[in-house]
Amino acid sequence: APRVGVLALQGDFREHLAVLRELGAEAVPVRRPDELVSVSGLVIPGGESTVMDKLSRAFGLREPLLDAIAAGLPVYGTCAGLIMLADRVLDATPGQQTLGGLDVTVRRNAFGSQLDSFETDLKMPVLGDPPVHAVFIRAPVVEALGEKAAALGSLDDGRVVAVEQGNLLGTSFHPEVTGDLRFHDHFLSKVRAA
Ligand code: GLN
Repeated sequence: APRVGVLALQGDFREHLAVLRELGAEAVPVRRPDELVSVSGLVIPGGESTVMDKLSRAFGLREPLLDAIAAGLPVYGTCAGLIMLADRVLDATPGQQTLGGLDVTVRRNAFGSQLDSFETDLKMPVLGDPPVHAVFIRAPVVEALGEKAAALGSLDDGRVVAVEQGNLLGTSFHPEVTGDLRFHDHFLSKVRAA
């Protein structure tokens, strides 16, 4: 079974660990550099990207994470995790840094207060039928895709909420809370192939 880490500084890492275990992976929380080097894939969970950014530096994980991404480690970011993987962020807080890797521009908290949180069914050709039931919680959207990134899923209004670029995956929404294992399964196929 592949050994897959979940960045466990903050946010809903427990849910990701549970889904990965359900899929047969050996899933471990990652809080230290030595834990990061032992995994062949990493999930960055939802939570608060500004806090995750600060904690990654406080825990000495920022440089190891940058190195791992540059070395091609498969990484899947959900929501705040997608923000962490984005090369460019709109509505970031002053001084907020991301890890980058995905050639995209995301906007934090893109759905405003009225639609802070909502659920919708999303067609995702890479996962086949049925559509994914997608849960958005103070979610970002992908406002611009660079040349290297590809959209995997969009809302009816065309806004991109799932992206892929090589070994990196990102979703604005939270598959780990719905019981639909297909997105994590897609990620594990990248981990196995890497
Ligand atoms: N709004 C959060 C952020 O900016 C993301 C919310 C989430 O991960 N559910 O990091």
